[in-house]
Amino acid sequence: MARIGSAEAEMEAVKLAAQLMAAAARTAPKARGLDSIQTLVLTGEDLEALAVAMEARSADKGSKVSFFGRDADNVRQASAVLLVGVRNDPRRAQRPLDCGACGFEGCIEFFRQEKREGEDFRGPICAFQLIDLGVALGSAARTAADMNIDNRMMYSIGTAARKMGLLDSDLILGIPLSATGKNPFFDRPIKMAERSKPDQ
Ligand code: SF4
Repeated sequence: MARIGSAEAEMEAVKLAAQLMAAAARTAPKARGLDSIQTLVLTGEDLEALAVAMEARSADKGSKVSFFGRDADNVRQASAVLLVGVRNDPRRAQRPLDCGACGFEGCIEFFRQEKREGEDFRGPICAFQLIDLGVALGSAARTAADMNIDNRMMYSIGTAARKMGLLDSDLILGIPLSATGKNPFFDRPIKMAERSKPDQ
């Protein structure tokens, strides 16, 4: 009789959930039917490399942020991390929406802009692609919740993943995943070294 212990069963469940979340992000509705969403599942030693990169980002950003170290510890507690990013591709320039939400007069003016690297991400980005990213993230998180896998969306993961070049996306968020008795991504202790920083 084959037996699967709880640790192995739960690890495999998290990996399966991560893959189904990636599928949910892929099949989530996209504005104008154009898909610029990218995903990647990280497990094993890639998680430690990601956590180290997050701590490096924390040092880069200095006193402006205070949660990267705590999020890095969460990545070390996770069994997998799903990255979801969006690459800002031109959106049907021949039939522009010209909505103006990006702050430019219309799509053609937006397309003429040179992409600029910010501290964490690259912009400008069409508002509809940001909506696509949000819908994809929501679909992925709902899938995790449907399968009772603990999760949380993290900006800090995305900035480190982008610095590592894990996805060719202009903006990335990460979702750590875990199956334990207590969701490690909420009610998190504040690190002593981070108590005095401004945005706890
Ligand atoms: S946000 Fe900008 S680029 Fe996107 S549809 Fe509106 S005007 Fe066009």
